[in-house]
Amino acid sequence: MTTQRALLLDRDGVININHGYVHRTEDCQFIPGIFELCREASRKNYLIIIVTNQSGIARNYYPREQFHVFSRWIEHQFWLRGIIIQHTYHCPHHPKESGGFGGFCTCRKPKPGMLFKAQKDFKLDLSRSIMVGDSLSDMQCARIAGLKEAVLFKEHSTAKYVPRLAKRGKKPYYLANDLAAIAALL
Ligand SMILES: [Mg+2]
Ligand SMILES: [Zn+2]
Repeated sequence: MTTQRALLLDRDGVININHGYVHRTEDCQFIPGIFELCREASRKNYLIIIVTNQSGIARNYYPREQFHVFSRWIEHQFWLRGIIIQHTYHCPHHPKESGGFGGFCTCRKPKPGMLFKAQKDFKLDLSRSIMVGDSLSDMQCARIAGLKEAVLFKEHSTAKYVPRLAKRGKKPYYLANDLAAIAALL
């Protein structure tokens, strides 16, 4: 029995501006509101965990070690602001690539492998946890894993306030254009 909740964050497009396969500190621009959201989540005893697809590794755009170096730097930037990132889970695979990280896997979102790994590692109650992502695959992943809420962050969306419920098929999710305002859902 566990009651541990988590704020599960996609990385590119939620934590840092998605310039495409960002893997160097000099290319990292934090998105306004992310630290405020995480600080509020910490205050409410959510663990903060990153879950990120990193097919740039399978595509040989950067080595896996570079991803780890960059992840440690990001985690340190949060730490400097008083926020603990518990872990950064990543999927290095891509189904259309060959080589070491080519082929199908169970961790590339929308597959829920990373969420289930986090659940096991941190004894999470996923039904009380929240995912914030900027793509529909993040929303699908959250719903497949049985999360309480999924929030689609689109900085330039027409959503004037949070929360606003949007629907795609049978899977509802919140649409937000302000990261800090997502704290209202915590
Ligand atoms: Mg993203
Ligand atoms: Zn994978």
